[in-house]
Amino acid sequence: MEKRVNLKKQEVLKYKCRICGYIYDLTKGDEKRAVMPETPFEKLPDSWRCPVCFYPKSHFYQVKDGHRKEI
Ligand SMILES: [Zn+2]
Repeated sequence: MEKRVNLKKQEVLKYKCRICGYIYDLTKGDEKRAVMPETPFEKLPDSWRCPVCFYPKSHFYQVKDGHRKEI
């Protein structure tokens, strides 16, 4: 029996702003707001807002890296 340990790859989630389409990429962080790379979306301060349209975190939803869902 072989167990796959592939969790790390599946953990690469991005968060997309449903207002303007901006994607928060945790591998990059948010330079403009001094958010260090590798900062998970959940760890962003509540005061963090979309750098494009300034809507709060609650307007973001998860997207899986490599998959784009057309709405
Ligand atoms: Zn936005």
